[in-house]
Amino acid sequence: MKWQGGLDGSVGRAAGGGKGESELELRGGDGSKKSAWCKPEKPAAFGSAQGKQAAAPQRDGMAAGASECVIESAGANGARRKRMRRVLNGPAVAALGIWLGVACVARADNRAVPKGPDEDGTKPALVKIAGEGMMDSHAFQYLTELSDEIGARVTGTPAERKAEEWGAAKMKAIGLENVHTEKYQLWRGWTRGSAQGELLEPIRRPLHVDAMGWTGSTPAGGAEGEVVTVNLFDLDSEIKEVSKLKAKVALVVTKGQPKKDLMVILFSDFASYAKAAGKAGAIALIRGTRDPENSGMNLTHTGILGFDSDSAVPILSMTAEDQGQLERYAESGKKMRVRLNVQNTFTSGPVEAANVVGEIRGRDNPEQVMVVGAHLDSWDLSEGTTDNGTGSASVLGSAEAIVRSEMRPRRTIRFVLFTGEEQGLDGSFGYIKQHRSEMGNHLGDLVLDNGQGPVKEFQLGGREDLVASLQPFAKSLRSIRDIAVNDKVESGTDTLPFSIAGLPGINMDQDSPEYKYTHHSAADALEAVKPEVLAQNATLMALTAYWIADRPERLASPWPAEKILKMLRAQHQDEMLKAFGLWPKELREAEKKEEAPN
Ligand SMILES: [Zn+2]
Repeated sequence: MKWQGGLDGSVGRAAGGGKGESELELRGGDGSKKSAWCKPEKPAAFGSAQGKQAAAPQRDGMAAGASECVIESAGANGARRKRMRRVLNGPAVAALGIWLGVACVARADNRAVPKGPDEDGTKPALVKIAGEGMMDSHAFQYLTELSDEIGARVTGTPAERKAEEWGAAKMKAIGLENVHTEKYQLWRGWTRGSAQGELLEPIRRPLHVDAMGWTGSTPAGGAEGEVVTVNLFDLDSEIKEVSKLKAKVALVVTKGQPKKDLMVILFSDFASYAKAAGKAGAIALIRGTRDPENSGMNLTHTGILGFDSDSAVPILSMTAEDQGQLERYAESGKKMRVRLNVQNTFTSGPVEAANVVGEIRGRDNPEQVMVVGAHLDSWDLSEGTTDNGTGSASVLGSAEAIVRSEMRPRRTIRFVLFTGEEQGLDGSFGYIKQHRSEMGNHLGDLVLDNGQGPVKEFQLGGREDLVASLQPFAKSLRSIRDIAVNDKVESGTDTLPFSIAGLPGINMDQDSPEYKYTHHSAADALEAVKPEVLAQNATLMALTAYWIADRPERLASPWPAEKILKMLRAQHQDEMLKAFGLWPKELREAEKKEEAPN
């Protein structure tokens, strides 16, 4: 809603159609400024009128009821001097205008009530984009090509290189600008060979096992050994007795309660324990069933042991059913023997990988960038469809919907197919490193990486200050899907490096109950995906990206280190980031500043 002020200082009539919020701004000849903005007790009714139509003057709730107003005055030097709250009725607001007695500059309020597409002028473009995304989607076609023609694409392998080339070719065909790859180095490369397991005692049967990523091999031809248990929840004690593993196989179980953050145990302490076990002469380690990835249906789930972590000793994922049997034997004191033959290959040094980048350049502020991304790399027990072919196809589908709509946003949308996500977010951390000098011009990143289900939440990566801004946009999507908004930090995907940089790393969380089966397993194939859900997710990604890039006000700028520090603590990310060696210099310095006496 706008207030139109007359030159005599009187307050003109309200132009309705918004949310009943009003603002007066009065400038003195000396450069001083007085302003008041008011919110009626009862919000004005939501009309379908958009900003343009709302220019027609009309009276609304402002004049009738009491309002809460904030009055603020600033000197010519811009210093804020006073701020107070008053409850005023409409005529009192008019009197206030007379009292201030200078020219009143009409302007739309953009401080108190955030605007959605109905009010901020973005809706006509979004309607076109939604039409392209839903009615003429090629997202499932892209997902089929990526799954069946390229298949598994482990970072740093020839298959992953082929996927990079495929992604760049798709971006060019879609019509993105500045399509290129951005190289970075992975600490070392790895290729899966084979893994066989057999239970020899107390009964004889084959075991379902696969190697975890970036883990080593048994001697050629395999090795036989007794199985002993190791308690994952008490690795601090276990590591002192690690010599018990000499020439044996460790079955990792969980007893009691974890004494630390489970993420720290799984992705940091366990890697240290595995190194010690290797040195002590263990044949192999079998990970525990409490591992969140190990969820039945007789599926193994591979994965990395930590951020950029590897292990010389083989570490195996065993199906929950096989592991359950071994645990029951252990509990009843039965002696177990297994035979394992695991063969993998490491490269001797670092390998090159690359993110794939393409843009829709902004029409007014091309230097300002909103990143839209997903990881193109995958694990290798199947074809990497739900992790994260669906995200990659959504990125391409969203880019295509916007290009075909022929709508160009105010700011640049940069589409990035990250790689190295599965080894420790190497591609997205690499992106932040390579673009450090332009991070001040970034607005955040928007990522989809939770499998095959429909989008259910915008998680704003720690930026609680943006929740209110996103809400009217989320509401505008209700005819497509109900999407909640919160400020959760998602640390398990390419949102994290942006959150650590103080930008909204926005995770489009999905309702994917079957993902616990397809995640990193042999079931991660095209069969798990419904084309209509994929098309909808890609469309929602396009709408969100376009709205953020095109809305009149910039959504976000990077937070200073002190605010990032507070947020990461409040979201319980600090302990984990430190354990992983991901705690940046700026945050260490902010901590020191806090400790320093004033
Ligand atoms: Zn993923």
